[in-house]
Amino acid sequence: MMQPSPLAEAITRDLLIAEAYTWARRIGVADRLQEVHVRPMRRKWASISTRGRLTLSSDLLRQPAAFRREVLVHELVHLKLGHGLHNALFYALVRAYCSSEGQDTKEKHPTLALNRNH
Ligand SMILES: [Zn+2]
Repeated sequence: MMQPSPLAEAITRDLLIAEAYTWARRIGVADRLQEVHVRPMRRKWASISTRGRLTLSSDLLRQPAAFRREVLVHELVHLKLGHGLHNALFYALVRAYCSSEGQDTKEKHPTLALNRNH
């Protein structure tokens, strides 16, 4: 699962946590995001509890920025709309937030995200 050589854009866990809080502010759920944890996760890239506890896979530290963004936005939109909700509105919001920055990464939508994300 781990890459043999780290990507050039690998980041620290502090930066990943900072990204999570930045996105929470953009999405308007900063008041609901209580905790952010980074730890090894076997089956998911991230998860979020109804109480606002966000857990991020440490594998994200070695993923491209666009992918990290997609995972963070996905989880935080759950905090906004509800858990386990994957309807059209959910995906429309995720797309809108993900495309609001980084126009150079138009359609980076790794399919493995859908399997590991919940
Ligand atoms: Zn989800």
